[in-house]
Amino acid sequence: MSDCLFCKIVAGAIPSKKVYEDEHILAFHDINPKAPVHVLVIPKIHKATLLELEEADKDAIGGIFLAINRIAREKGVAEDGFRVVANCGKKSGQEVFHIHFHLLGGRSMQWPPG
Ligand code: 5GP
Ligand code: ZN
Repeated sequence: MSDCLFCKIVAGAIPSKKVYEDEHILAFHDINPKAPVHVLVIPKIHKATLLELEEADKDAIGGIFLAINRIAREKGVAEDGFRVVANCGKKSGQEVFHIHFHLLGGRSMQWPPG
């Protein structure tokens, strides 16, 4: 866990531009944004992928979607629409193995994603 980039961000050992924080959740700007609004929303607890979630994590993960709802409104992308992406595993393109949800907005999106 000490080697995990996002755990270091949660601990404050690596700086981030925070947009939201509560007991279970941290949200911060992606360092390499793929859209005008690109926020990463993560559980503070370390879990490498969605596959590691269990019953006890329900509240924390539910809270992530409420945080996304709030951040989308605050960042002004709620009305026009936005995308939420969670990559899971190597073929998905996941690079950081600490669960995170990408909130992307401020431009038109293509479907299906690449
Ligand atoms: P993934 O490909 O794992 O779904 O997404 C990882 C995301 O983390 C990428 O969009 C990448 O730009 C972002 N990222 C990688 N390193 C850092 C960092 O040190 N700080 C922040 N804020 N974002 C990072
Ligand atoms: Zn971690």
